[in-house]
Formats: sequence, C-alpha cells, structure tokens
Amino acid sequence: MFEHLKAKPADPILRLMQEFREDSHPQKVDLGVGVYKDEQGHTPLMQAVDRAQRILVESELTKSYIGPPGSPLFNDQITQLVLGNGLATKLKERLAVAQTPGGCGALRMAAEFIKSCQPTARVWVSDPTWANHVPLLGGAGLPLETYPYYDQQTGGVRFDAMMETLKKSARAGDLVLLHGCCHNPSGADLNSKQWQEITEFCLDKGVVPFVDMAYQGLGQGLNEDALGVRYLFNAVPEALLATSCSKNFGLYRERTGALMLLSAKAEQTPATASELFTRIRSHYSMPPAHGASVVETILMNSQLAELWQSELNAMRKRIQTLRLQLNQGLKARGVDRDFSFIERQQGMFSFLGISPEQVNQLRKDFSIYMVESSRINLAGLSAHNLDYVCDGIASILK
Ligand code: PMP
Repeated sequence: MFEHLKAKPADPILRLMQEFREDSHPQKVDLGVGVYKDEQGHTPLMQAVDRAQRILVESELTKSYIGPPGSPLFNDQITQLVLGNGLATKLKERLAVAQTPGGCGALRMAAEFIKSCQPTARVWVSDPTWANHVPLLGGAGLPLETYPYYDQQTGGVRFDAMMETLKKSARAGDLVLLHGCCHNPSGADLNSKQWQEITEFCLDKGVVPFVDMAYQGLGQGLNEDALGVRYLFNAVPEALLATSCSKNFGLYRERTGALMLLSAKAEQTPATASELFTRIRSHYSMPPAHGASVVETILMNSQLAELWQSELNAMRKRIQTLRLQLNQGLKARGVDRDFSFIERQQGMFSFLGISPEQVNQLRKDFSIYMVESSRINLAGLSAHNLDYVCDGIASILK
C-alpha cells in the first residue's frame, strides 16, 4: 500500500533551519524562520503567558472535551480584541466564531466552509502571499487566483493594478484574501483609504472579503492594526476572518486561533454556525484547549492584560527600531540602493530585494541565512549582529 510513495523534497525553510543548525560559524545569523526573537535570539515565553499558566495549573479542574466551537469565553474575548468592543457588540448576532488549532486551522476550516456552501467560489490571493495559503486553501479544493500586490520598485502596494485585476476578473461570490496587517512575506500593508476602496469594491461586486490576521499588535498597535478590518466588517454583509495567537501571545506550539464568519442577517447565524461546527467535527472534532485557556485568563484579568500589552508593545517597538537601524546601517556603508522601504513596511518581514545568487552568497560567505526570495525576519536582527549583517549585505551589493 505504501510502496509507491516517494519522499517529497524537504520544505525549503526546514532545510534552511537544518543547514543553520549544522553551521559552525561563530557569527551565523538566522533571518529565515518566521518566529519572533528577542535580543538574545530566543523566542521567549511571555511573562503574562507564564503567569496565566501558573493560574491554570492551580485552578483547572477538568480536561473533559470542549466541543467543536471551543471555549465561548475565548471566542468572545478574541472577537473583542480583533473587532474592538463596540463593533463586536454590534455584530454579535451576525457572527459565528470557533476557536481553532492556530491560524492555520482557521484558514483550513474557512476553506472547508467555503467549499461546502459555495463550491464554485475562487479565492483571490495576493502576489506574493504566505506560501502556506496555497496548500491550506487549495488543499480543500478551492481554486486560487492571484492579484498583483507587492511593488518591487517602491516596496509598497501596487494598488491600482490590484484593483484593476479584481474589478476585471473577480466574480460575485468569489473571495478576496486580505492580510489584516503586517503582510507576510512583504511587510507592505494597505492604508486606510485603500481598505475603504476595497470595502466599496466588495459591496459593489458581491465579492466576499476573507481576512487573515496573524500579526495583530506587531505593526502599529493592537487597535491601529485592526482599523482596516474593522472598517470592512462594519460595512459588508458577509465576511470571514482567520486570526492567530501564535505571534502576539507567543503561543505557537499551543495552536491557538479563531475563525469568525459574518452572516448578512442575524437569522442566518445559527445555520452558518452549524455548517462550520459540522465541518470542524469531521476534521479534528474539536480544538486543543490549553492555549485558548491561557489567552482568556490573560484577557479576563486586567493586570495580566496590561502586562501582556506592555510585552507586546516592546516586541513591536524592537522590530520598528531594527527596521530603522537596518536601513541606516546600509546607508552608512554607502550602499548604492534605497532601502528606506524597510522603514515604511510593517511587521516581522520584508524582502531585501536581492537575487537568489546573492542570497546564496550571503549564506556561503557570511553564514547569514534567509529564504531564497530574500524575505528576512527583522526580529532575527539584534545589537549583536546588526553591524555584521549590514557589512555582509553591503559587501555583496558592491
Ligand atoms: N497566516 C499568516 C500570514 C502567517 O504568517 C501565519 C503564521 N506564520 C499564520 C497565518 C498562522 O499561523 P499559526 O497556524 O501558527 O497560528
């Protein structure tokens, strides 16, 4: 039965991690893997998470099943975090929410839901988009189409080209996948006017917005990062949103996220919820509880919520500072190329905009690791390696 199977080539990012581990260069730098790192290069357990876990150890009385939707308290809290209290209250009767195993679980369940209620729908994704969107959404059998997005020249968004393609080719009932903030892999985000235009477009054309919100709080701030999404959700009849607590709570391995489905009318919500929970039941039955219990413990406790926000602010500010320092460091080395776009972009990622050969050269000559597309994780930089990385990049660009 298994004999015909051939091992697939290793995922490029896992291969890169392996090579990095085996590299004995004392100054090696990992800018590849997509997790937040602190000044010491660690992906820390946030203090608020640590304290919440201690509270749970003392107070948890059962490990019984939690059901396909997960924890109702977590679902309420995460909805308020994403949409803000006012909008979450306003839309409450129109929202079906499920706690999911990470943002990936939310994306896949969104795709399964779409496939069951609108089998002919296509999903429009940005060019480029997070590589995992393709197997997560396409794997459910949804055809994917791309719209132009990242502008290599300016480091911004090709908004006119994006809208032209969507207006020309997207059909009513198709979905447009939008990164809520901190676009992965480009760091180029939509501004508020552009969110408004997309909202108008969805209303005019009957295209359904589908938001992936994996980095709330790591761009401009918890509320600031959600303004576009909130504008959209306030206006459109139907929408989907996948969110993740992996980055902003540092809960990666606890697989904590949520899927929100907005129905046009409150009377529709029970049927929408029932379809979603049925899909969940037939895939993984129900989500793991621990990460969501940690998040709700933090958000329900004002002291812990404050501690969490201050830790998240520090992470965001660190990334913003590294963005400035990288651009300035390259400028100071007389690099004949404008890298100021790195300062304008948001979140953990940016493309350096160098060729795959130059990416290879950085790895071979300097043991500086990044994926072939030249996407870097800014959080992999620190005071210990910034000069070294700037020297390396400047040297391969001469
Ligand atoms: N969407 C995007 C764009 C991401 O970058 C990620 C994490 N890398 C996710 C969703 C989901 O992550 P997780 O399943 O770990 O919550």
